[in-house]
Amino acid sequence: MFSTEYEPTSVEADAMLPTKFGEFRMRAFYDESSDKEHALLYTGEKSSLVPLVRIHSECLTGDAFSSLKCDCGSQLEESMKEIQKHGSGAIVYLRQEGRGIGLYAKIQAYALQEQGFDTLDANLELGFPADARTYDFAAVMLSSIGFNEVDLMTNNPEKIHQLNESGIEVKSRVPIIIETCEYNRSYLKTKSTRMGHLLRV
Ligand SMILES: [Zn+2]
Repeated sequence: MFSTEYEPTSVEADAMLPTKFGEFRMRAFYDESSDKEHALLYTGEKSSLVPLVRIHSECLTGDAFSSLKCDCGSQLEESMKEIQKHGSGAIVYLRQEGRGIGLYAKIQAYALQEQGFDTLDANLELGFPADARTYDFAAVMLSSIGFNEVDLMTNNPEKIHQLNESGIEVKSRVPIIIETCEYNRSYLKTKSTRMGHLLRV
């Protein structure tokens, strides 16, 4: 477990990142325990507003290739727009692909879904937990820019729980509404009915 006493100065790189949704700064982190590089995309860190924060786990298919099998790409874009509109906030981008099981296993799970498994059973069939993600390093990243109290954009109660446990106070939850389509409907339904996500599908 990480504590927020961790000194991020030895591992961070920080620079301006203009995007099509507005200007952010990006801070890169190296997480020794998982041997992963994570990214914090942020703006308005000196503002007195409660920052709007999204904790996003890497999804190569959704984030980079506009996949319709999940809602990750849309959630990322919506969050970036909302943060710019609000004027203060951050995307914590964690490199835990495929709910933490990695890209190779994720594509194996997609193949099982073609045979009729739902997203959760496909993971279990491959011998992985339903969700292998952790969020404790997010607290280290947020506290490095002084975001110790946040409004969290999420439908996942587990993220609120883990962030509170790691010392970041979640003042309120901001739901994310994503349009369903024929490809993501069963994925969203499994999230809602079997994994405790707060969605209306
Ligand atoms: Zn995804």
